[in-house]
Amino acid sequence: SAAAKSQPTIFDKIISKEIPADIIYEDDQCLAFNDISPQAPTHFLVIPKRRIATLDDVVPEDKDILGHLLVTASKLGTEKLGNNGYRLVINNGRDGAQSVFHLHIHVLGGRQLKWPPG
Ligand code: 5GP
Repeated sequence: SAAAKSQPTIFDKIISKEIPADIIYEDDQCLAFNDISPQAPTHFLVIPKRRIATLDDVVPEDKDILGHLLVTASKLGTEKLGNNGYRLVINNGRDGAQSVFHLHIHVLGGRQLKWPPG
């Protein structure tokens, strides 16, 4: 809903270290941490420090951060999983099964993933 999209999320508290997370990478623009409910042996999230609620809320000025998130996700995925591969996912909106309204890239790997997903 519009109300849910306008509110800060638990990810802001992870960024500010008010609540703990298993952080695997951090720089001035983004943070990566393991998902609390992993769907694969490796499952972490890469998020911008400045909140963007959903992929639909990006504006042209967000191009740099979007590129940075993608580059960071692929770097970390390759670091952890070598040449075995991995999957990037962005859930967007209701039908995309988005539950946290702070843009995040899921990075999943460590087993053979199925396609298409459910
Ligand atoms: P979405 O469905 O919005 O794409 O996924 C949100 C993801 O965030 C889920 O995979 C969920 O397990 C993860 N998540 C939600 N709350 C927390 C939390 O407090 N800590 C961590 N590490 N992950 C969380």
